[in-house]
Amino acid sequence: MNERNQAAKPTVVVVGGGYGGITAAKALDHTSDVVLVEPKDAFMHNIAALRALVDPSWLSRIFLPYAGLLAHGRVVRDRAVEVEPHRVLTASGEEISADYVVLATGSRYPFPAKTDLVDTHHAQEQVRQSNRALAQADRVLLLGAGPVGIELAGEIREVWPEKSIVLLDVADEILGGPYMPELKAELRRQLVESRVELIMSSPLRQPLPTEPGELATFTVTTEVGTEVTADIWFRCYGVVPNSDYLGDELAAARRSDGFIEVGPTLQVAGQTAVFAIGDVSTADAKMAGFARHQAATVADNINSLAQGQFDLAEYESMGVAIAVPIGPSGGAGQFPGQDQIVGRETISEVKGRDLMVDQFGEVFGLSTPSVR
Ligand SMILES: Cc1cc2nc3c(=O)[nH]c(=O)nc-3n(C[C@H](O)[C@H](O)[C@H](O)COP(=O)(O)OP(=O)(O)OC[C@H]3O[C@@H](n4cnc5c(N)ncnc54)[C@H](O)[C@@H]3O)c2cc1C
Repeated sequence: MNERNQAAKPTVVVVGGGYGGITAAKALDHTSDVVLVEPKDAFMHNIAALRALVDPSWLSRIFLPYAGLLAHGRVVRDRAVEVEPHRVLTASGEEISADYVVLATGSRYPFPAKTDLVDTHHAQEQVRQSNRALAQADRVLLLGAGPVGIELAGEIREVWPEKSIVLLDVADEILGGPYMPELKAELRRQLVESRVELIMSSPLRQPLPTEPGELATFTVTTEVGTEVTADIWFRCYGVVPNSDYLGDELAAARRSDGFIEVGPTLQVAGQTAVFAIGDVSTADAKMAGFARHQAATVADNINSLAQGQFDLAEYESMGVAIAVPIGPSGGAGQFPGQDQIVGRETISEVKGRDLMVDQFGEVFGLSTPSVR
């Protein structure tokens, strides 16, 4: 802690108000002066974004204004453009001094799963516009058969039983990742049962001729010569870490793929007072649940450092976990430490039915989430 602050609470600047950032900020709100730097006017609960695309009445429940998050700390609506160990510079030129910094800037992902738009009105309008286009499309092509592609196929099928849905990937199996073969087989079975056509091991011969989310009929050909005609397509792959703001003292911790290197205590490589959590860090798989778990470890470690204790806690991974809904009542998953997959009823209960909107509404002080 800076000498001038020894009697006072430490200032912790949390950069990025996604799943990890809001958890760290809230956990430190009583012990520190928290400053949360975030360009968006509301937290976007992107876990439910695909449901909002097919049913825009969900929009009011997935954009949660930051005003209700902190009891003591402040939220600076701005983008960090340069971060050093004890200083955060924002796009508007504000310099914020920090005793500790938590980097929680997450990742970009193609719309509709995430958005780059920073104000709720425009972000919601973007979803409504895509919903109108999707409603008019008879044939939908989803590129990428990972968790997002599978989930989006399920959401579209739930609302539009008659649409043709093609899920296409260069990989030879759906889902990818370190998951059990039984899970992949069960998800595949449910997709086929839902009349989602799977085209695997199939790179395309040419780039897509239209923009994602644009209503316009096109035909593409796979390398083996299969033709796919669709009226709209969405990109369902591509996590890109947001880490372009690291100043000279932190730049060495940025790996060539853009992720920020952290040690077991989640301190950024070579740093004592700077931590990185969530999608932007190398700590674990890219999951909101893991980002929140890391945030708790970092809050404890900052409290320890502020009390002069240097024996910090190490982050313990929860293990392999995933819940993939196929619509509100389908899907399957894998939970840590279990040697059998989790079936559709449990996945519907823990995720598919309400997509955790009530849980996140409560984090923002909304005891009764906005009515659908
Ligand atoms: C459709 C979908 C469903 C998912 N379902 C699940 C699930 O069920 N369970 C699960 O665990 N995970 C799920 N995930 C993964 C999960 O969404 C991510 O792992 C999670 O968003 C990571 O959280 P984060 O806090 O690291 O970053 P993010 O959520 O990406 O948040 C980062 C924040 O930082 C801000 N930011 C970026 N740059 C700057 C800057 N320079 N200055 C200030 N702020 C900045 C951004 O505006 C953003 O608000 C899902 C993902 C998708 C796309």
